Amino acid sequence: MNDHKVMSSVLDVDKIRSEFPALTRTVHGKPLIYLDNGATTQKPLQMIERVRKFDAEEYGTVRRGAYKVSEYSTQLYEEARQKVADFFGAGSKSEIIFTSGTTQAINLVAYSFGKQFVKAGDEIIISNIEHHANTVPWQVLCEERGAHLKVIPVNDEGELILEEYDKLLSNKTRIVAVNHVSNALGTVNPVKEIARRAHSVGARILVDGAQSSSHMKVDVQDLDCDFYTFSGHKMYGPSGVGGLFGKMELLEQMPPYVTGGDMIMQVTLEKTTYARPPARFEAGTPPITQVIGLGASIDYMNGIGMDNIAEYEHQLLEYGTKCLEKIDGLRLIGTAKDKAAILSFYLDCVHPHDIVTCLDQDGIAVRGGHHCAQPTMIRFGVPATARASMSFYNKTEELDALAESIRRTIKIFS
Ligand code: PLP
Repeated sequence: MNDHKVMSSVLDVDKIRSEFPALTRTVHGKPLIYLDNGATTQKPLQMIERVRKFDAEEYGTVRRGAYKVSEYSTQLYEEARQKVADFFGAGSKSEIIFTSGTTQAINLVAYSFGKQFVKAGDEIIISNIEHHANTVPWQVLCEERGAHLKVIPVNDEGELILEEYDKLLSNKTRIVAVNHVSNALGTVNPVKEIARRAHSVGARILVDGAQSSSHMKVDVQDLDCDFYTFSGHKMYGPSGVGGLFGKMELLEQMPPYVTGGDMIMQVTLEKTTYARPPARFEAGTPPITQVIGLGASIDYMNGIGMDNIAEYEHQLLEYGTKCLEKIDGLRLIGTAKDKAAILSFYLDCVHPHDIVTCLDQDGIAVRGGHHCAQPTMIRFGVPATARASMSFYNKTEELDALAESIRRTIKIFS
């Protein structure tokens, strides 16, 4: 395409790339082009080094020991909680609960909020373009409680149809659970407006932020969401950690999800009283090192600036969209006006798994499959898609290479 000049120099991408050792790998003898950032992101040296230093020199258990090593480890752990709170604009760090990731955070809310607030005949609303992590827990809750699951439909572009959403809302609605960004399509959902409408009938809202947390500035108070979830491994941090923001007035009323050590006020053989949030929801030894790493990845993203990241990734999206639109026989799945840098596509002549295998031969890593969003695939009448999902370390040259490799793949199969 050769119009790299269209990209502004909002970021020094070469410098950024030099901070990600994984990007220097070769695959099948070709330089790696990593375009599976929706699944998981690569890790910057600063985060890797922070984790190494913590494990080598600062490691200790948290919240339990009254000795220096443990006190310091606890201090770092709580500082990381503050970083997460500041990053998402939470009012207090006590509103941040560390979990293993988005999946566990949503399960926590479905179980605990559900136990407290959902009864037979109540309704829960999700959308047609949710990850299974934001579908199955609500189905299970509905089954257990005798509640009903309602689904906001999407138009052919992959945008939620808000007029239909309005029709689903009623005083029976207890919670609306939607993603901020669809992992399968890239649609950015108008969650602030969705929250406003949910609140107008007295319902609560959970925003699945797995795909927005590292791609745009998120302010949970501005969005006025009651819950927001995120995963460290999609935020340039370690796997095995993520979390939940929850409004304190709700968390205070919710029963524990997992029980055991560290989440109690007092235990006798007859009765246990529970600690206040966040401890109430962090039973057992948490992923200490991973939490410290997540704090470092947040420092890293803050260093680049979330607005810069969003602007650059939007330019990548526009560039990549133009590249793929020129390919005969390629259908983009997800063409919402407001989109994150995700390009999901389908070729009539090649199954997505074969596309992935062919692209891999060129060193290009993309995902092929249903993306844990089978209802979305059904809605768009495809069994699966191939998906290129971008990060601020990707370059337009890589998108040119992607388009070229897709063309080669089509030739092989036609
Ligand atoms: N929600 C969305 C939108 C996702 O994209 C993902 C992961 O791809 C998840 C939830 C689940 O995240 P995790 O596997 O980190 O728990």
